[in-house]
Amino acid sequence: MAESGGAAAVRRGGSQGLLYNLACALCVAAPLLVCRFSTLADAAAVAFLLTVVLCAVPPVAALAKFDLPEEWLVWPGALAALAAGAMAFVSVTPPVPADMRTAGALAALGQAVLAMESDAPQPLARWRGALALGPLAVGLALRQTPDAYVGVAGVLALFLAFPLISRRIQRVAQTETEAETRLTSALNGVNQCFGLFGKGQVCLSGNSEFLRLFKLTAHEARGRTLNDMMTRRLALPLKDRGDIDRLLDLAAAAQKKKLRQKLCVDLAGDRIMEFAFSPTPDGLSMQVEDATRRRAEEVRIERMARTDDVTGMANRAAFRELLEQAAAEAASNPFAIFMIDLDRFKQVNDTMGHAAGDKLLSRVAKRLLDLAAEGEEVARLGGDEFVVLARMNREESGHFAARIVEAVSEPYQIEGSKLLIGASVGVALAPEDSSDASDLMKAADMALYAAKDGGRGGWRYFTRDMGENARRRQQIEQDLRIGIGRNELEVHYQPIISFAKRRICCCEALVRWRHPTQGMISPGLFIPIAEESGLIVPLGEYVLRQACEDAKSWPRTVRVAVNFSAHQFARGGVAEMVRRALRDTKFPPNRLEAEITESALMSDADNVLATLDELRDMGVRVALDDFGTGYSSLAYLSRFRPDKVKIDQSFVREMGKNAASLAIIKAVRALAKELNIDMLVEGVETQEQLEILRANGADEAQGFLFSKPRPANEIARLVSDPAQLPRARKLNNPDDASWTSPFERVDPNVVALRPESIS
Ligand code: C2E
Ligand code: CA
Ligand code: CA
Repeated sequence: MAESGGAAAVRRGGSQGLLYNLACALCVAAPLLVCRFSTLADAAAVAFLLTVVLCAVPPVAALAKFDLPEEWLVWPGALAALAAGAMAFVSVTPPVPADMRTAGALAALGQAVLAMESDAPQPLARWRGALALGPLAVGLALRQTPDAYVGVAGVLALFLAFPLISRRIQRVAQTETEAETRLTSALNGVNQCFGLFGKGQVCLSGNSEFLRLFKLTAHEARGRTLNDMMTRRLALPLKDRGDIDRLLDLAAAAQKKKLRQKLCVDLAGDRIMEFAFSPTPDGLSMQVEDATRRRAEEVRIERMARTDDVTGMANRAAFRELLEQAAAEAASNPFAIFMIDLDRFKQVNDTMGHAAGDKLLSRVAKRLLDLAAEGEEVARLGGDEFVVLARMNREESGHFAARIVEAVSEPYQIEGSKLLIGASVGVALAPEDSSDASDLMKAADMALYAAKDGGRGGWRYFTRDMGENARRRQQIEQDLRIGIGRNELEVHYQPIISFAKRRICCCEALVRWRHPTQGMISPGLFIPIAEESGLIVPLGEYVLRQACEDAKSWPRTVRVAVNFSAHQFARGGVAEMVRRALRDTKFPPNRLEAEITESALMSDADNVLATLDELRDMGVRVALDDFGTGYSSLAYLSRFRPDKVKIDQSFVREMGKNAASLAIIKAVRALAKELNIDMLVEGVETQEQLEILRANGADEAQGFLFSKPRPANEIARLVSDPAQLPRARKLNNPDDASWTSPFERVDPNVVALRPESIS
């Protein structure tokens, strides 16, 4: 029962030694009982009794968990063998009765078998065999009868076979021991604490860490139950003793469910231990690991996954969880969510760089956190979108939304610049609008959308009709998808007049959708939907190809202008698409003008500028559309250097009422001239407007005053009608009222952008 090195394996030797010695005792005691106490047998009986006592020592010691020296296990065995041998001798020598004979012979044979099976060293085992069998053989030989000689031969044969049988038995035992030793050293190689338990959760084996955990030696651990070890020996400063019961339940569960079970327990000093129990064929294994560092790392990673790294506040995933919890209790604990979108954030990011953008986001975050009370949640959903969850009723939430807009719109001082941004807020109430987290987010999103739609810097409650609108938009998207395939889209053209050339120099392609049931639908309605859904890509390509195809038949002096959306640029491949369209339609690139709005430039300026350079290299002209509606317009003008700038209609409309509008037009005129950029003014509806613009140096004009957008066949007639030229020449002579006559005059009140009036 030696321990192998410091490995301290708890070996099965313990129970084997016990069994062995019990067997010893039985072998001696059984014949004693059978014996009829003849005088000779009486003498032997004293020896047997002594042996019984000796044999009983090791099992008693084992039960008392007392470590006996190895010799104590060898000597009782040898004595038992000698006693059995003596008894055999006596019993086979006449005049002992026949039944006693058999008992004596059996005792000797039993001892011989035990000696063979014992794991004592070979010579010792053989000696024991000789002590038991020798006297039997001699006793038989002394009888001098033929069957006694046969018995002698049998005993000798057994003795001769002894080494062979014994070695075989020992080899099997040795292999088992080796396997155990290997297991033990393997377990010691694992620097985790590991122990094995057999039937009844009795400890079989464990490595040194395991023994240290229970402050036990290998021998002490052997045979103890898990329950005993955990309740009486566990050397851990548990914060909660109740954890022991939980661990025992867990071990039972692992065995019952045949599934690995884990539990972390807290120790004093903020340490954490992880216990794992796994089922084995006849019991279970236990693994214990210091999880303090791993847990800290897990906590850090989890916190990172739930935190927005720019602002340090909760991110979308974390907010989602909070919202779900709040939504579940909305009936008893109503709340509101505020979806916040920053206005003009992209421009800051674009003109001042990402570092400044990040700083701005952090400042916005701080203002929102300052606004929020205890228990209210603020999160950044990504980009320039924030969200607040607050326990408020309808009225309070309205005040709060207004305060958000106000707080975010206060100026910021970043990198030495004073920055002004705005915020739009959408408000959804729980449980009033919904008690479902997803629906609430959608509702707040729709309200935000409506807030942005109604001019930025405002806030809106969610209303049912917003949901209706959203559904309508979805319907339009679906119909548009089908409509593109069914050629329901037509391209109309609106003439652009050159003041200098006094004729139509270009026509702008404007798409129209002839919906099978709803009639004409305005591009103002379906273009934004096409942009959001990505349908703008096939739609844009269709318009471009159609425009090139139609304009091919026009005079060579008339160009065609095609609108490009920011979303087309964002999705990429614009230059390649234009090259393909020009090649397939064989349309000269220098007769094509690409109209791009400022917002297209703002979203990803570098990428868009690179694409525009590619277009210019092909020979395509580039016009900056809706100029003046964006942010830092003049900066864009010099950075982007378009061939043409189209002043937005709003300026013309305001010109009469607002002196600033005309001043801006004049300033742009001066800069455009400097940069050699043509200036076009859109939305010219009245003669007065035209007068003012002409006087202030506009190069081109476009508007209902000349013509509304017309179908391709009409425009083809108009542009190739030589009759228009002499009259258009009169543009230079304001006294001649007939200058508008080549183009029927359109009453602006009639031609609004309503679908039914477009065609
Ligand atoms: P836009 O590019 O600014 O086009 C000019 C819009 O002003 C057109 O509206 C035109 O009909 C209208 N308009 C022209 N003259 C006057 C006028 O004197 N007074 C008034 N009140 N309006 C005038 P439309 O055709 O409804 O197009 C609206 C917008 O839809 C366009 O604005 C453009 O942004 C977009 N769009 C139209 N077709 C396309 C297209 O093929 N692709 C893309 N990406 N966008 C398009
Ligand atoms: Ca345009
Ligand atoms: Ca425009």
